[in-house]
Amino acid sequence: MSAGYITTGGSDRYHTGVDCPAFQRGVRGSEAQGNTLRPVIPLTPEQAGHVRQTPCPECCGGSAR
Ligand SMILES: [Zn+2]
Repeated sequence: MSAGYITTGGSDRYHTGVDCPAFQRGVRGSEAQGNTLRPVIPLTPEQAGHVRQTPCPECCGGSAR
């Protein structure tokens, strides 16, 4: 359904979707610390290849390809 990836401005990783366990842990951790949640930024596969973020090892299999 989603053809791409998501990331946030405060993350150094991108994910295949917001249901990624690692992403969810990050959100909960931010909430627990009282941090403002960063907006989710959708990335196309092309954009993901250009951003400085790296693929999340949990949902992206540790490799972009
Ligand atoms: Zn992930």
